[in-house]
Parts: sequence; structure tokens; C-alpha cells
Amino acid sequence: MKKSVLAAAMLLGLLVAGCDEQQTSADSGLVLAGKTMGTQWRVSLAGVPDDRQEALRSKIQQLLDNDDHELSTWKKDSVLSRFNQAHDNRPQPISPEMADIITMSLRIGRLTQGAMDITVGPLVNLWGFGPDRQPSHTPSQTEINAAKAQIGLQHLQVIERADGAYLQKDLPGLYVDLSTMGEGFATDHLARLMEQEGINNYLVSVGGAVLTRGHNAAGNAWRVAIQKPTDRENAVQARVDLQGHGISTSGSYRNYYELDGKRISHVIDPQTGQPIEHRLVSATVIATTALEADGWDTGLMVLGTEKAKALALREKLAVYLITKDKEGFSSWMSPQFRAFLLQDDSASR
Ligand code: ADP
Ligand code: MG
Repeated sequence: MKKSVLAAAMLLGLLVAGCDEQQTSADSGLVLAGKTMGTQWRVSLAGVPDDRQEALRSKIQQLLDNDDHELSTWKKDSVLSRFNQAHDNRPQPISPEMADIITMSLRIGRLTQGAMDITVGPLVNLWGFGPDRQPSHTPSQTEINAAKAQIGLQHLQVIERADGAYLQKDLPGLYVDLSTMGEGFATDHLARLMEQEGINNYLVSVGGAVLTRGHNAAGNAWRVAIQKPTDRENAVQARVDLQGHGISTSGSYRNYYELDGKRISHVIDPQTGQPIEHRLVSATVIATTALEADGWDTGLMVLGTEKAKALALREKLAVYLITKDKEGFSSWMSPQFRAFLLQDDSASR
């Protein structure tokens, strides 16, 4: 593995294309990268001439900037922010893409019994992870209860009509936060752009979500590695061939701060109103789309190891969990996940 690639990777997460020695060699194909939604995007392509580089880069950036303009709760003039600001229970027109994201979010919300809840925004803000500033004190139970009263998937509805899709809320203060779905959605969107461009060998990623199709410049399947929870540079836990699927990892290690001596995670359990604290370190999910994978990983993180395992088995999800235990870390994978493991890896398990 190339150190430069790994060094840029997070402590634990997905290493995209990091396993391919070819990545930095002469026949590496095209690698484009940039910033969006407060994170990084990356596109690796095989069989695409260098002279398409600039045109592709600007199309990608524009597409992602447009998505951000629609979905961001950090931008006050985004489509979503305007919906949140409108204390109005009339149906508001939304794009088909926004309808897809919300419909998927509501479905995963139901199946996780509300652990994944895109209306959790008031709690996210209360704990200082939203566009509002980090709090100077641990929120009181009264504040938590007040925020919880503004939350609930039952207050949000997607209405499909002949003239398009609409979004409606029946609680004026309802605040929709799609932060946890954005990366997966944008990843799928990049994949659709590649298809439109006639490109069918690609690896696209936004933040912790990845989708691959076809093969890399060396003619091998794209490989995505899940890194071990250690800072050893080449510590790879498992490698998968996504076979056209999307993958997403959610981890409790990534975005947190310390308050009153406690580590505060940005993933909030809507039931307790508190940031998650259990021993599940990361949840990785492979699904048909990166959007779906990105929705499940957050839900599983909230549920914790045991409930996440049970749900993965019940819903037949491809899931990989890393849990902190007495000896260090232990991992678990569902049978559906095992099917994506690279041959040489699965032989040793
Ligand atoms: P990670 O990659 O660590 O899963 P994401 O960025 O995908 O993180 O999602 C975390 C964000 O999702 C938080 O910053 C917050 O805005 C929002 N969020 C927090 N808790 C929940 C929850 N229970 N359900 C849905 N969204 C949540
Ligand atoms: Mg997620």
C-alpha cells in the first residue's frame, strides 16, 4: 500500500482505492478530487483520456455544489433550510431527488425504530453539532425534553402527486437534518453522472461513502478497505469488492468534542436525547445504493452492537461492526457482508 494514501485516511474508515498499488503508478487512470459538504470527494476512473479531466472535474464540482445547495442545513438559503424555516404546514414542492432521500430516510427510520431520525436536528443543535455553536454546558434534562418535543418522523410526510413531490410537516418547529444521508446521496449522484458521461469503470466517493463499478486501470476489481481502529498505517481489517454496490461507514471516533470531561459524539440517540456512548466503534454497510448504506450505518451506530447485529440479521443487511472490548477491538460481519469479501481475505476467516 502507498503510505501517502493511507496517511490521508482517517483513523478508521474506508480506504478508497487505497489498496491498489496502481493508483500512483503510470497506468493509474484518472484521479480527481475536491471538497464538498465539509468533506472530500474523490473519483478514480479507468479508460478515460487525460484531456477530459478538466471538464469532468468542473461537472462534478458543480453537481456536488448543487446538491449541497439543496440539502445543507448549514446554508440558510438551501431548499431544506427554507423548508425548515417555514413554520407552515402546507405541502412544499421538492425535487424528485429530495423525495427519494426523505423516503429512504423515513423507511430506515421506521426499521430502526426511530434510531435513525432525520428530524433529530433540534437535539443535534442543542449538543452543538449543527450550524449553531458548540454549547458551553451539558444540556439540562429540561432543554433535552424541549428539543425532543420538536422531533418525530411521524410529523413528516412525502406526498407524491401527478405534478411532482411535496414535503409536509405537521409540527411547525420540525427541523429536518439530512447530514447523515448527504454523503451517500452525493456518491450515488456522482455514479449517475459517470454513467451519463459514458464512463463505466469508476470508483466514486464522498466522505465516508463509496460506490464502485467495473474495474480499475490495471483491469482489477476496485477494492475498498475497512481500516482497523488503530493508527498503524497499514492496518487493514477487511477488503471488499463492491460489485456495483455502495458502502458507507459511520464511526463514533470521527466527529466529537469534549465537554465537562466527557467525549460527546455527534450521533444522537433520539430516544434518550443524548449522544451515543456505547462500545460500537463503527458500523459499515453495503447496499444497492450508497444512500441506503449511509442511512443504515447511522441507525446501527445508534442501536449499539447487539441490536445492530439482530437488525442486520433480520433485514438481511450486509453489515460489518467493530466493537471495543476488554482485549481491544472485535469485529462481526453478517453473512451478506461476507459475500463481498475478497477471496484471499475470506479464506483466512
Ligand atoms: P458519521 O459518518 O459519523 O455517521 P454522518 O455525518 O454520516 O456521520 O452523520 C452524523 C450527522 O447526522 C450528525 O452530525 C447529525 O447532523 C446527524 N445525526 C445525529 N444523530 C442522528 C440520528 N440519530 N439520526 C439521523 N441523523 C443524525
Ligand atoms: Mg450515515
